[in-house]
Amino acid sequence: TPPTTGRTSGPSRLVVLAGPTAVGKGTVAAAVRELHPEVWISVSATTRAPRPGEVDGVHYRFVSEAEFDRMVAADELLEWAVVHGRHRYGTPRGPVDAALAAGRPAMLEIDLQGARQVRRTMPEALFVFLAPPSWEELVRRLVGRGTEGEEERERRLATAREELAAEAEFDETIVNREVHAAAEQLVALMTLRSDSPTHH
Ligand code: 5GP
Repeated sequence: TPPTTGRTSGPSRLVVLAGPTAVGKGTVAAAVRELHPEVWISVSATTRAPRPGEVDGVHYRFVSEAEFDRMVAADELLEWAVVHGRHRYGTPRGPVDAALAAGRPAMLEIDLQGARQVRRTMPEALFVFLAPPSWEELVRRLVGRGTEGEEERERRLATAREELAAEAEFDETIVNREVHAAAEQLVALMTLRSDSPTHH
């Protein structure tokens, strides 16, 4: 079956942003959303509960275990993974296909397991690793965020150590020293990749 992602019609506009926990992927994605509304950013489905301030359909689609099961069974997810050994997160396939078909530069902000799955099914996408300035800085950010308890923090640090080693699998690395600079570097990479005349 031919791909439904528009990959045959020129360079892919799909960028997959991954990196270790607490490196600031979500913050960089938010900056791209604010500074570059022309970039379409995927809204993931997740079984975890919303944090204060998170809005269903904006930050995530917050779904039940049963609904996530249904989405997996119906093959509605481009990729999905259990992240930090706990909740499931996945990228709804339909909206990605629609964005690419409409010629919009598109971005996924997902974990490393998800990035590896997309690498298998959409190898023409651009895979960008968001790296911390240092391990110490990563720990500082994870502790500073204060959204997780001790046990959860340890779990995430263990994951982050493994994830840092994955940088070599990626096409590009952006070091997240400052959020706006990182966002602009990311959009510059997308623009270089894009064949859209509005981006030249
Ligand atoms: P958080 O719970 O802090 O919002 O996100 C935890 C992790 O889940 C982050 O590393 C984030 O990149 C990852 N994540 C968010 N959405 C998805 C998704 O759709 N697929 C995968 N594989 N990971 C995701």
